[in-house]
Amino acid sequence: MFIVRSNLAKFEYDIHSLIKAFYPEKEVKILTPGSVVKNMTLLSENPAMRLDFCGGKVVFKTYLPDEHTYEWEYDGSTYDSVDYKNAFKRFLYKALSEETGTTLPWGNLTGIRPTKIAMSMLEQGKDEKEISDLLQKEHFVSGEKINLSIDIAKREKELLQTLHYENGYSLYIGIPFCPTTCLYCSFTSFPIRVWKERVADYLSALEKEMDYAAEAYKNKVLDTIYIGGGTPTSLSAPELERLLTKVKSSFNLSGLQEFTVEAGRADSITGEKLEVLKKYGVTRISVNPQTMKDETLKLIGRQHTVSQVVDAFHIARECGFDNINMDMILGLPNENEEDVMHTIEAVEELAPDSLTVHSLAIKRAAAMQGWVAENGITSLHNTEEMIRIAADGARRMSMFPYYLYRQKNMAGNFENVGYARAGKYGIYNILIMEEKQTIIALGAGTITKKVTRRTMEDGSENVLIRRCDNVKEVAGYIERIDEMIERKRKLLEEA
Ligand code: SF4
Repeated sequence: MFIVRSNLAKFEYDIHSLIKAFYPEKEVKILTPGSVVKNMTLLSENPAMRLDFCGGKVVFKTYLPDEHTYEWEYDGSTYDSVDYKNAFKRFLYKALSEETGTTLPWGNLTGIRPTKIAMSMLEQGKDEKEISDLLQKEHFVSGEKINLSIDIAKREKELLQTLHYENGYSLYIGIPFCPTTCLYCSFTSFPIRVWKERVADYLSALEKEMDYAAEAYKNKVLDTIYIGGGTPTSLSAPELERLLTKVKSSFNLSGLQEFTVEAGRADSITGEKLEVLKKYGVTRISVNPQTMKDETLKLIGRQHTVSQVVDAFHIARECGFDNINMDMILGLPNENEEDVMHTIEAVEELAPDSLTVHSLAIKRAAAMQGWVAENGITSLHNTEEMIRIAADGARRMSMFPYYLYRQKNMAGNFENVGYARAGKYGIYNILIMEEKQTIIALGAGTITKKVTRRTMEDGSENVLIRRCDNVKEVAGYIERIDEMIERKRKLLEEA
């Protein structure tokens, strides 16, 4: 673990994110004067780094193990200004880059939506050169990632043109069950076999939430629906039919542009279930291999085989689905460039309509290290070459990158990119990333986001994003459904 002492609490999050980006395999603990420390022994440990803020001056020292000192002085405004924060992040990035002898593909951008900058600059009428200059000079983003950001932002802008930002909304429904839990899972997911007996109660609670949402937004246009989780197809065919009957009877689907259901795990997909999805107007599904290597699938706890993925894909085509996404993950345990090449070639043979390329996100480094030791894993890394192999594969399938996001602690500090053939884009995926439209989210562990636009006195537009969440636990969600609806009512009725 890296202990980092700072005499100022203000930039704790930024300091943590940047140091973690340079040292992804380390747990990083920032100690500031206000830190609440449960493990008191940490207080007596020698720090790996130290930051001292004194007026406009910052002294950054590293002890790894030799002592190095980096100094910076800012003349002008206070810690509260955005300028100060941005300048401080540039200083810290440069110091860490010198310390490690490396640069990061996304420079000092540590947030999860790097395309947001390019998107908002395009909307302000800025040209590509201005966007590129800002990303390079202010944030040290690599040329390749700058091009990717601009390319995606332009495509997103075009795709969102047909949406009803003001008078429209999207709907997310979470089904928090999966056949088994994947070892890297960071979603709300519980094994279906444990919760089988409560699925009916869960659906009843969801139906109550649907009634409320449909009534609250009855005068708005429903643009997209996404049923995710978890794995919605963990439900049986009759349970799926019950869910989709309710969606159809509650909401006005006449303006719907996209209806996605994440079928996801091949071990949950049957022809009978896919027929139900088709019958109720689902337009887009996912069949996710993650890798086309059986050994890895076993290692990561997915408990299905490559041949099950291939079969599920063919069944989906036979059912008439003409918009099928496949997900793959780079940086999986014991996988190298050759394995990624094998996966992308096997995916190409199936010819899906879109491909989402994830970089493995390691939520807790300590837990992951335990897993690595227990399973005899010899490699766990993502490389630029793997990213390139996947991007080349997408290009060969005539797909374009159309959305991008990052998660904390991603292998190689890279990104997740969605590719699709023209006309097969997942609009909901862009909406969730760019926060352009209200998304009402129903089900355990989901978060509703309300987007409000206001025109300010100077004519500029102010976008306000407010959230409310549902409890993650299935039993808690069922028992406290009235409270979940009340939370939503408060948010949606707020001016
Ligand atoms: S399929 Fe997805 S949601 Fe389900 S356990 Fe695996 S990673 Fe989690």
